[in-house]
Amino acid sequence: MRTQVVIIGSGPSGLLLGQLLGNAGIDTVILDRVGKDHILSRVRAGVLEEGTVGLLDRAGVGARMHREGLPHDGFSLAFNGRDHRIDLFGLTGGKRVVVYGQTEVTLDLIEQRARDGYITIYDAEDVSPYGFDGNAPFVTYVKDGLTHRIDCDFIAGCDGFHGASRKAVPEEAIRTFERVYPFGWLGILADVPPVSPELIYANHPRGFALCSMRSHTRSRYYVQCSLDNTVEMWSDDRFWDELRRRLPLHHAEALITGPSFEKSIAPLRSFVAEPMRFGRLFLVGDAAHIVPPTGAKGLNLAVSDVHYLCEGLLQHYLEKTDAGLDAYSEKALRRVWKAVRFSWSMTTLLHRFPDTGDFSQRIQEAELDYLTQSRAASTAMAENYVGLPY
Ligand SMILES: Cc1cc2nc3c(=O)[nH]c(=O)nc-3n(C[C@H](O)[C@H](O)[C@H](O)COP(=O)(O)OP(=O)(O)OC[C@H]3O[C@@H](n4cnc5c(N)ncnc54)[C@H](O)[C@@H]3O)c2cc1C
Repeated sequence: MRTQVVIIGSGPSGLLLGQLLGNAGIDTVILDRVGKDHILSRVRAGVLEEGTVGLLDRAGVGARMHREGLPHDGFSLAFNGRDHRIDLFGLTGGKRVVVYGQTEVTLDLIEQRARDGYITIYDAEDVSPYGFDGNAPFVTYVKDGLTHRIDCDFIAGCDGFHGASRKAVPEEAIRTFERVYPFGWLGILADVPPVSPELIYANHPRGFALCSMRSHTRSRYYVQCSLDNTVEMWSDDRFWDELRRRLPLHHAEALITGPSFEKSIAPLRSFVAEPMRFGRLFLVGDAAHIVPPTGAKGLNLAVSDVHYLCEGLLQHYLEKTDAGLDAYSEKALRRVWKAVRFSWSMTTLLHRFPDTGDFSQRIQEAELDYLTQSRAASTAMAENYVGLPY
């Protein structure tokens, strides 16, 4: 088989890239090692920046997001028993985020791809990119016991942190930067109304908590937990009790609880691989970088990579220039590192670190106090939260 761009990975970055290229008449084949049901069962991000919303619109998959997504003009920082609203809309001159689950974004993209008749090969084993340092790259994979080969012009590695693309790059050609945080997030989904119409990020001596949502009737809550915890150690009752303790009293009293139908623990990590281009192989999204979810940046960063790569590929095919492809890694990484910094600073500001004590707690509270009293500091936070320009 031959196509123009092989996309490895059918997560949000691979699907969005495929849709934008397909809309411009560029052929793609997407390969994923798992099936559609598995992809749609993954509960992950839920806060979309304006740039992400704009690119989903451009791809022609924004209709349901605008119908069902929840536009948010602000969020709360809770600490010391009180909370303070960060007015995203007012501080950024009219920008906002939209709360719409990654699962829904992925579903919209999968359905559009199927309607357009673009090829996706699910359950593809041993996906391997080859020849990307020359002019004739190709990808092999095994399906139903048979090995297949797809020749192409370019390979987009959209296969997440554990994918095959980054691993195919020679070690000496890549540099990685990593910070692993000494705690995780225990998250639940429950069909109960959210405690607040906007997100609450809570700093507390017992640890961080986040009140988020997927809709007016479905809540997503998190508490910071120790990395040696398992979900079995957290009954729903224990979770709700712990969440209540970490929230200001008026929120704790207003919290409506109910049975959870999803419960998982995610470790927190910052990771960046440089560069993001290796000849005709481009790394995109989580394949190149991971951020802790505290700043709601993971999915949004994947989308900004797609924007830069898509521009480069469109220029290559439609304008016959490789300037955009040549600039891809540098442009993407400049934005990536700013989001890595923001996510790290939000994580550092809001979590309880095991090796530091009450001194650090007071420093965090002082910083939160300053941040919420200073318009300049609040504006800097709001600008980063709604997403820096592409
Ligand atoms: C548990 C969890 C919770 C998260 N929560 C948040 C959050 O609250 N907020 C936030 O902003 N971000 C969050 N993120 C991050 C966010 O979900 C990611 O940044 C986003 O999914 C990146 O999209 P992607 O398409 O680059 O990668 P992925 O979504 O990881 O998609 C990669 C795709 O590649 C496929 N694949 C992997 N290996 C191979 C292979 N060898 N061959 C073929 N296909 C392969 C996978 O099956 C998958 O479909 C979370 C991530 C995780 C893991």
